[in-house]
Amino acid sequence: MDYYGSQMSKLIEQLSSLPGIGGKSAQRLAFHIIHMPKDQVEQLTSAITDARENIRYCKECCTLTDQEVCPICANAQRDHKTIMVVENTRDLAAYEKTGKYEGVYHVLHGAISPMLGIGPADIRLKELMQRLQGDVNEVIIATNSSLEGETTAMYISKLIKPTGIKVSRIASGVPVGGDLEYIDEVTLLRALEGRTAL
Ligand code: ZN
Repeated sequence: MDYYGSQMSKLIEQLSSLPGIGGKSAQRLAFHIIHMPKDQVEQLTSAITDARENIRYCKECCTLTDQEVCPICANAQRDHKTIMVVENTRDLAAYEKTGKYEGVYHVLHGAISPMLGIGPADIRLKELMQRLQGDVNEVIIATNSSLEGETTAMYISKLIKPTGIKVSRIASGVPVGGDLEYIDEVTLLRALEGRTAL
């Protein structure tokens, strides 16, 4: 039974396909949207389509950006010889918010998970290894302390070891299974400062 008519049902269906949006939230959002002024709805839809259209991976570090090279990689003041490896752009943002990290990043877009069938080729590891052919002093592995994050850290350190580049892992001030993005800045900084060589 279609209570709302097909257009409304379609909107609810689309919204409920988003992560974290259940059926009730989708209905609430849909009603909100149809009561919004038309120009505001246009701003919302063009923000979505523009972002999808223009955002891509940084040529250097693979983070999401709307330029060929992201502002961090383009910044000559940053220490380009220190690379912090993170699972996603949200983790990068968490470290950037501390304002204390001066190196650059490498965003993997995932972590190795044999259980989910995600292997080394499914994350941006090849790109990292290519970067390491340049002038790099240290790779700081800041993947999450989940099973997947630890597996990924081990895998990467084994790959890098033969190159002679220093590899370190952030300290375990970060709670087990904790996503970096939810951790406060002080804990993040402590984890960074207390990193240990692998
Ligand atoms: Zn970049």
